[in-house]
Amino acid sequence: MQIIRAFVISVDDFIGQQAFGGATWGQVLLVAFAIAMLLLVWGFLSTSSRKPEPDTRTVVAYCLSCGWRGRTSRHRLECPHCGDELEIE
Ligand SMILES: [Zn+2]
Repeated sequence: MQIIRAFVISVDDFIGQQAFGGATWGQVLLVAFAIAMLLLVWGFLSTSSRKPEPDTRTVVAYCLSCGWRGRTSRHRLECPHCGDELEIE
């Protein structure tokens, strides 16, 4: 028990010691813990409320020849019905 008591006293000593700027290590640890918790909560909120990314690879286009209209690849503007060139909306 002597060892444990010595350990507790040394930790207590350490916590009560001045770290920097007049703050004790205990206060520094508390602030560090608070910041860590804030970052954790912030990270959780930002990932859970993230909106789905807008679809930038496809575009809505229509065909002048047959009137087909729909979503197609931005890089392949070709009508799936008649093969004519599509017009982007
Ligand atoms: Zn067409």
